[in-house]
Amino acid sequence: MNNKNSEVLSRTDIEVSSPLTILEALEYKSKFQEGVYVAGGTLLQLGWEKSEFISKRIISLESLKELKNVEMHLEDQKQFVKIGALTTIDECINHALTIMYCPLFVTACKNIAAPAVRNRGTIGGNVASRIGDSLPVLLVLNAKVTFLINGKIVTKSLADWLNDQHDPSFLLIDIRIPCVKTKTSDFYKKVGRRETFTSAIVSVSGKWSSCENGNIRDMRLAVGGGNHDPVRLYRVEEILKKEGCEFSSELIYSEILNEFNSYSDVFLTDHYRKKVAANIIVSELKRQLVSG
Ligand SMILES: Cc1cc2nc3c(=O)[nH]c(=O)nc-3n(C[C@H](O)[C@H](O)[C@H](O)COP(=O)(O)OP(=O)(O)OC[C@H]3O[C@@H](n4cnc5c(N)ncnc54)[C@H](O)[C@@H]3O)c2cc1C
Repeated sequence: MNNKNSEVLSRTDIEVSSPLTILEALEYKSKFQEGVYVAGGTLLQLGWEKSEFISKRIISLESLKELKNVEMHLEDQKQFVKIGALTTIDECINHALTIMYCPLFVTACKNIAAPAVRNRGTIGGNVASRIGDSLPVLLVLNAKVTFLINGKIVTKSLADWLNDQHDPSFLLIDIRIPCVKTKTSDFYKKVGRRETFTSAIVSVSGKWSSCENGNIRDMRLAVGGGNHDPVRLYRVEEILKKEGCEFSSELIYSEILNEFNSYSDVFLTDHYRKKVAANIIVSELKRQLVSG
């Protein structure tokens, strides 16, 4: 979807297919290899506005009712909230199951765009884009994704899927968030160049189950937002496990700078973005682990 191309298409050059079932969507995709799936179209719209070449073939997923459910799901005796890929960001914020079992995810969704965009944009589009602001939170929640590829249904951890070689022919079906009934601590912060309705300089998230006898249990940290590849900070997590609740801020700060790969653009340097991420993570950990 990021293809820059001098070819600018007028709306009449574009053919839109509107499959009614997943099977039909797959048939269109295999018939028109260059076809692009569109859900809410809010991210693709940003590309169109910049005259980026998307495709002459649009496959609208809008009518696929099968991808609109939010429900409980049992797998290997573990409970998940299963969110259909076509669920809008607004529905993710207001659904009783996400509110009850996935409050951190709801917080992240509330930080995506403005209400009008959230009414149309879907969680599937946010995840499938690989740059959405929901991804750091979904990583620390150990979410799974289910998708159709080469005629097969595959469910795998979001972290593994993000690491895979990117094959654009996939159709994302749902996102599965484990329900954790024990008490956990967490945080999510999105930093933008303005207070609201702005794209992220960086989005960070963290989650752990407890800090007992000086030991931190099940620590997970992730960064993303803007054009970053969302990633877990596995090395920093390991160091925190060794260091325990009385960790050295300086050490964690410098390890975040080492592990997190960022980028520069016309507004900000990669070093600045890394420092923002490191500052937020260290201050949240200090606030909750040391004083908590
Ligand atoms: C003004 C504005 C502000 C925004 N602010 C933010 C923000 O703060 N944070 C943020 O994260 N995003 C932001 N966005 C981007 C966008 O709104 C969200 O990422 C949204 O969740 C995308 O969902 P969509 O359904 O509109 O995706 P689409 O635009 O329809 O698709 C996005 C990508 O995902 C693919 N895709 C969609 N659904 C599927 C599927 N089921 N299977 C396979 N591929 C699929 C499409 O082919 C495309 O490549 C903003 C957009 C606008 C216009």
